[in-house]
Amino acid sequence: MGALNTFPLSYKVEGKRIVIIGGGDEALNKARLVTKTTAEVVIISRQIEADFTGFDVQALERAFEPSDLDGAALVFVAEESADADLAKHEARSRNIPLNVVDVPPECDFYTPSIVERAPLTIAISSEGKAPVLARLVRARIEAMLPPGFGKIASLAGGLRERVENLIHDGAGRRRFYEALVTSPRIETAASQSAAAGLHEAEALLEQHVAQGAGQGVVWLIGAGPGSEDLLTLRAQRLLQEADVIVHDQLVPAVVVDMGRRDAERIDVGKAKGHHSFSQAQINTLIVRLASEGKRVARLKSGDPMVFGRAGEELDALRKAGIDYRIVPGVSAALAAAADTATPVTLRNVSSGFVMATAHGANDQDLDHWAALAKAGLTLALYMGKSVAAEVAKRLVDHGADPLTPIGIVVNAGRANVSTHVGTLRSLSERAVQFADGPAIIFVGPAIASGDWADGARLAAQGFKVA
Ligand code: SAH
Repeated sequence: MGALNTFPLSYKVEGKRIVIIGGGDEALNKARLVTKTTAEVVIISRQIEADFTGFDVQALERAFEPSDLDGAALVFVAEESADADLAKHEARSRNIPLNVVDVPPECDFYTPSIVERAPLTIAISSEGKAPVLARLVRARIEAMLPPGFGKIASLAGGLRERVENLIHDGAGRRRFYEALVTSPRIETAASQSAAAGLHEAEALLEQHVAQGAGQGVVWLIGAGPGSEDLLTLRAQRLLQEADVIVHDQLVPAVVVDMGRRDAERIDVGKAKGHHSFSQAQINTLIVRLASEGKRVARLKSGDPMVFGRAGEELDALRKAGIDYRIVPGVSAALAAAADTATPVTLRNVSSGFVMATAHGANDQDLDHWAALAKAGLTLALYMGKSVAAEVAKRLVDHGADPLTPIGIVVNAGRANVSTHVGTLRSLSERAVQFADGPAIIFVGPAIASGDWADGARLAAQGFKVA
């Protein structure tokens, strides 16, 4: 906490002037930045070398005079000269914020990288320490926001008073604005003309007012194996729109943190530090929340349809007549295959891939799996860490080849992944010490084609190999 040495804010420059001392490329760079504003921009230098044509600036090739700073909101110094020193002194004595290009200790403020969709402004600052990184982040954000986004932001601003009069609850207003900025119809209309955009936005507002708080919805969202960047873009967007995030314990905090900051969070794996919620309690909970009109993100590890008790939750939602939508996620076995560069299907070796639970496997299951492994298919066993040795032994008892390769991936898809490789026989004979965390057990000949033993390469990627 309290780690920022600068504070980002939006500073009013309308009707004021911004003075740049210097006539070279550095001055030009600053001019490019500040001419995005409506301020009057004045360039002053005895030598104007850069080409300022095309910029809405006043370029004055002359000595600096203290009165140049009358009415100035900001001063940039982009040359080294006696004039520059005088300008610095003058700015300081008048308490006008000063930026001396490339001399951080002399700066009162830094200029962030800016993504501009007026009136929406996104500023990325590294406190002057890592401008290249800030520019990279900026490029990504630029790519995320359509060029017409600012027009929609203006629309939202123009409707604000009416929205406040018509929609009285905060959640309802937020829902309206979210619909406004995500509606392709409004984006198209707003890019045609402000009037067309306004017309569509008003129609949307009427619709929201007519529907009241509206029906809630439950999104069953796959969180992936536990790294924030293995979340899908859709999952991320819906987590941003949710009123409540109901998550399992297996979903790490970094992923839950991707959700809207003020969304309520309920960890159903840990009810107030005591016992976890039963499945029936979870079903009741999500039905109740959605019935209250809330948008519920039911966040599950991996993919929600794979060992996620989705069947029961969907049943409860259907019975209660609640809308739902499912967002797939990267299931643990697929993350484990990626971490170890193991193709789980492989021409002439493995014609298929089976996801199964090792927990509570009966003799019939083992018969099936042994036959599948013999036929070359890859088994990915979930929930099997504590019974790994026992399952390996039983597979051999049921006819699997004891030399069938096995591979175990603990914390797949996470920075602290660790792996273990062997055969059904070695796994059944030796007790293996696994790292803490959830694990996938692979069985089948395709495992031998992965990078399991290639510890150096995995380590270079930040992976630990057991
Ligand atoms: N829906 C999840 C599975 C939930 S069942 C999915 O699609 O991945 C819980 C089991 O998933 C764990 O016992 C473990 O076998 C596996 N698992 C979940 N996350 C994992 C991870 N990051 N690494 C390895 N296995 C994981």
